[in-house]
Amino acid sequence: MADTRQTLWHILGAGSLGTLWATRLFRAGQPVRLILRDAARLQTYHAKGGLTFSAQGLRQRLQIPAQTLNDPEPIHRLLVACKAYDAERAVASVATRLVPGAEVLLLQNGLGSQQAVAERLPDARCIFISSTEGAFRDDDFSVVFAGRGFNWLGDAQESLAPPWLDALTNADIPYEWTSDILQRLWRKLALNCAINPLTVLHDCRNGALQARAEEVSALCDELVGVLKACGQPQATEGLHDEVRRVIEATAANYSSMHQDVAQGRRTEISYLLGFVCNAAMQHGCEAPLLNTLRQRLVRHLASRGLPGD
Ligand code: NAP
Repeated sequence: MADTRQTLWHILGAGSLGTLWATRLFRAGQPVRLILRDAARLQTYHAKGGLTFSAQGLRQRLQIPAQTLNDPEPIHRLLVACKAYDAERAVASVATRLVPGAEVLLLQNGLGSQQAVAERLPDARCIFISSTEGAFRDDDFSVVFAGRGFNWLGDAQESLAPPWLDALTNADIPYEWTSDILQRLWRKLALNCAINPLTVLHDCRNGALQARAEEVSALCDELVGVLKACGQPQATEGLHDEVRRVIEATAANYSSMHQDVAQGRRTEISYLLGFVCNAAMQHGCEAPLLNTLRQRLVRHLASRGLPGD
């Protein structure tokens, strides 16, 4: 039987999180291939001399092998590290390369994109990841590891962990296998909906929401109702308190959505607030505050020339 620890990792999307995973796996001696969108991106990558990774003031350049979407190499284990709005299309571009029973690990924030990918790939094992690690690009193919965090991995169809997870331990990737990954993703989604859109609309750091406690609390009330209607009651436990704690602990930070808007980047709204509003509607659950928030956010994004989806 093949040594499962040495299964080749294909990493689709060499952005912030894709690079963070690729560099750690590569440095741990695991075989890694980056999948870039086309020959032009591959050429740029080679011209840059590989991926640059910075952490704790140290910079390192790694020449991780890379290829394009239409490379013929079969894929056994795919880590999808695109934004939620790119994930389904990117995976579709490599679908014919996936061997039957391939593992597909999905790093996307929010909900909706993971399910769309899983529906497209009935022969693959899709593993969802909820990540609180932080990384950002300071240049093309150059990434800074910004914040220690954690990764929860789980499979919505099958609770048994795959046998190769110690490959992540060897690569210093902090993780835990969870038998209820959807609950984790719903919880993170609720935290995001209670905080991030308001920071964009009020153009403020997270901490400024302490002065808007009533508005935040009313949103939490509604989120609790929606999550319960969607069959996620456990994801609502202590939500109000955790939202307060997160606002306090990250008071000096700008939320990820605020950073996206400030830098003129498309947001993942459809997989965050948009997903929650649609889920509420499908379950016949009234969510007037969340819907109004979504409309205001979409208008705000349009005024900045950004898409509302
Ligand atoms: P990112 O830096 O924008 O990277 C996304 C990468 O995907 C880019 O390199 C992009 O390529 C690539 N890509 C998109 N479509 C592609 C395609 N069709 N073929 C090949 N490559 C394609 O995004 P990120 O910050 O890593 O975020 C990825 C996901 O992780 C998001 O859902 C995000 O919310 C989540 N997340 C991020 C962080 C974080 O700290 N960054 C933390 C937690 C969760 P180009 O370079 O060619 O544009």
